[in-house]
This record gives sequence, structure tokens and C-alpha cells, in this order.
Amino acid sequence: AERMRVIGGGLAGPEAALMAARMGADVDLYEMRPVRQTPAHQTADFGELVCSNSLKSESENTAPWLLKQEMRRAGSPLLQCADAAAVPAGHALAVDREEFSRRITAAIAAEPRITVHREEVTELDPEGPVTVLASGPLTSSALSEEIARLTGQEHLAFYDSISPIVDAESIDMDRVYFAARWDKGTADYINCPMNREEYDRFYDALVSAETVKEKDWEKLDYFEGCLPIEELARRGRDTLRFGPMKPVGLRDPRTGQTPWAVVQLRCENLRADSYNLVGFQNHLKYGEQARILRMIPGLENAKFLRYGQIHRNTYIQAPAVLAGRLHFKAHPRVFVAGQLSGVEGYTESMGMGLLAGIYAAAAAMGREVAEIPRGTALGSLVNYITHAELKRFQPANITFDLLEPLEEETRRKVRDKKERHRMVCERALAKFDAWWSGLAR
Ligand code: FAD
Repeated sequence: AERMRVIGGGLAGPEAALMAARMGADVDLYEMRPVRQTPAHQTADFGELVCSNSLKSESENTAPWLLKQEMRRAGSPLLQCADAAAVPAGHALAVDREEFSRRITAAIAAEPRITVHREEVTELDPEGPVTVLASGPLTSSALSEEIARLTGQEHLAFYDSISPIVDAESIDMDRVYFAARWDKGTADYINCPMNREEYDRFYDALVSAETVKEKDWEKLDYFEGCLPIEELARRGRDTLRFGPMKPVGLRDPRTGQTPWAVVQLRCENLRADSYNLVGFQNHLKYGEQARILRMIPGLENAKFLRYGQIHRNTYIQAPAVLAGRLHFKAHPRVFVAGQLSGVEGYTESMGMGLLAGIYAAAAAMGREVAEIPRGTALGSLVNYITHAELKRFQPANITFDLLEPLEEETRRKVRDKKERHRMVCERALAKFDAWWSGLAR
């Protein structure tokens, strides 16, 4: 077997390296810290958690729990470290970050198949050794340029501009209406109409809301067309009415009138049961978003699956360039894992590291392995990043709306959402076990 390399010693990289080594591959693991730091990391440790110390929910039959269960069943090296470094945190898995890193370092040191290189990788040769790219949201600029060269400049993004997403079931359908502008095309949009007073109240709340404090390195030059909604609002009381809240051509069929302003909700195709607020990317604190967005008619009791955000984040346009086994379609020896691959979150990044480690090791050893099934949590993440609509592609956390929905008939029969979630999890774990036992053979 040929040697392979993994670039990045954050979360996805060590997971990929350890997984690949366990499969029998020899791995060169590259990490640039401490030779070169990122703007967010504080140490030179493997698996440094740059912000919170939480790996999310451990409550049974939640989506983050399911993801961790699948990873545990595959013997995820980093989750083993996390479980051993756990600190009390109610229904979540939180870790002592130093202990977590220490255990990862020990696991790597104990693995004779892994050789660590503390250097910045600045070149990529798609014909060279099998490579897992796991250099994260703060990939160094030299390597970013190399990735852009491989993917095409237009397929590498440098920041997130995320619109909030609401759970469809939490929208008050009596207060909203379906319509397409000027009745052109299908009426896929839910429209939340505002009269003048409602708009004024919403506007005043929006411009006086508290925004997230940016760190220096997070400061972004916003592109026109991708401005945070509160910035746009500051340009004038009516700017939103001529921008994302434009009501023209959206007559309310119930009254025959055109509202003063309209918030449009667009169905998230690949995220069943959820809608995003079109053009509402913002930089407000989450609590402020919850308060202000619930002033929108129809969203009084909205459950937010994701809040709006804008922050620095390097990631590839996976739906255009990535194949189901996490390698570039055009460069089958180069695999991508972690945040760079288009997922969001510590555990999700580790999960993509686990898969990329397996697939890349197989490639280096000339073995065939089956693709993770769509019905699993890991497979749902892969399905999302490889099939999401390219134009609006945004990195995602694991949530139920990414998982394969139950059959229509079952959905109708089983009214209890908790029970439906339990069924989705049970099916996912069965599919995972079948895949995993097939791999081991
Ligand atoms: P990383 O953990 O960043 O690992 C990438 C590694 O690659 C780094 O160690 C880096 O030094 C190295 N590297 C980069 N370029 C090169 C190169 N050219 N050569 C060699 N090495 C290189 N997620 C959560 O779930 N919870 C949070 O609270 C959270 N907070 C975040 C806060 C910030 C500021 C950021 C940027 C992200 C946050 N995330 C959070 C998102 C994400 O989960 C983390 O960024 C996570 O660390 C991603 O894992 P990764 O392995 O893809 O990247």
C-alpha cells in the first residue's frame, strides 16, 4: 500500500488519520501550528476546540445523538477521547478541552502508522499521494489558493452568510399565504404580510437590536447583495421594502390587497419541513433574532432550526465538486473532510473525518468500500453537501430535516413527532450497522 497524507490536525484530520491507520494505511499527518497559527486557535494541540466545549446533545433520538451513536459504532477515535474527557453537562456531551486534546495526542503518538509533520502544506498535487484535506474554516491562504486552483476559484467560499431557518410546523398558516411574484411560476413561497404599523414596529426593533461583537479577524467586507439585513435597514426606513421585503406582485389572495411589506419564506428542498427567510442573513445575537423575527406575522411561535449568521469560513462548493465518497470528482485521489467539506460543527467535522479516513485509506490500499447509506446521519450529511442546491449552498449542522424522511404513509399515520424521530433513528442505526459490518469483512 502507498503512504497517504492528511492535512490538518484539528478535529477532522486526526479522526481521518487514526481511522485510516486502523484500516492499515500509513499516514503522514500535517499540522501547521505552532509554526503558523490560525486567527482563532490558541494552542498547538491536536483537536483544539476553538470555542465552546460542547459536542451537543446526548438525548436519545435527537439528531446530534444519532450522529454520535453511529460514530461510536464505528469506533470513532475522537469520540472515544471525548467520552473519556467528558465533564457533567446535563443532556449534552461536553469535554474538558485540554484532556480531550491530550488524549488525541496520545492516541496519535501510540499509532505507529502515523508520522506527524509540523509544517504548513502549501502545495497540492492531485496525482501525488492520496490526500485528505482537513484544514478547516481557517485554512491558510497559501493552501486556499491551491484548493481554488484545483476546484476553480468560484467553487471556494470564504465566509458564511446564513439566513435563519424555521420549522415548517411552527408557522401559523392562518396568517400567511402561498404566492409567487406576479403569479409567475409555482407558488412555492410562503408570504408573511405586514401592514404599515407592523412594518414600522419591526423596523424600529431591527435597527436597535444588539449585534454580535466581531473579533478583528472576523471583520468582513460585505458584498452588496449579501448585506446583513440590519445593515440594509440602516440605509433608510424603506430600503427593506424595496429590497428583500418588496411586496409588489404579491397580492394577498384573501384580501385582494398588496401588503405594505412581505417577508418571503422559501422551502428548503433538501431539508424537508423547513423554510428559510429569504434575504434575512444577519449579524444579530441569537436571542435578539428570536425576539425580532417572531414579530413577523405568522412567525409568532416560530421554532428556529438555525439562526442567521455571517462569519468567516472557508469551504468548498461541495455540491459542484465533491463525489459521494468525499473526493473531488475531478481529482479522485484528493478527499475533503471537516468544515472545509461543507458541514458545520465539531461533531459533524469529526464525522466527515471518519468517513474520509475510511475512503482515503481504501483508495491508498487499492480496496473498494461501499458508500455510507443516505438513511444514516453520516449519510445525510454527505447527501446534503453533495446534493444541496448549489446557488444557495451553506454549511449545515446535523438536524432532523437533513435525514431521510419516513414514507408518506407512515408520516400520516404516526402523528407524534417524537415517535417519528425515534423511528428515523432506529432505521438509521440499522442501516449504519449493515454498512459497517459489510466494511469489516
Ligand atoms: P479545524 O479544527 O480548524 O482544524 C484544521 C487544522 O488545519 C487547524 O489545526 C489548522 O491549524 C490546520 N491547517 C490549516 N491550514 C493548514 C495548512 N496549510 N497546512 C497544515 N495545517 C493547516 N463548531 C461547534 O460545533 N461549536 C462551536 O462552538 C464552534 N465555534 C467555532 C468558532 C470559530 C471561531 C470557528 C472558526 C468555528 C467554530 N465552529 C464551532 C465550527 C467548527 O466546528 C470548527 O471550526 C471545527 O474546529 C472544524 O473542524 P475542522 O477539523 O474542519 O477544522
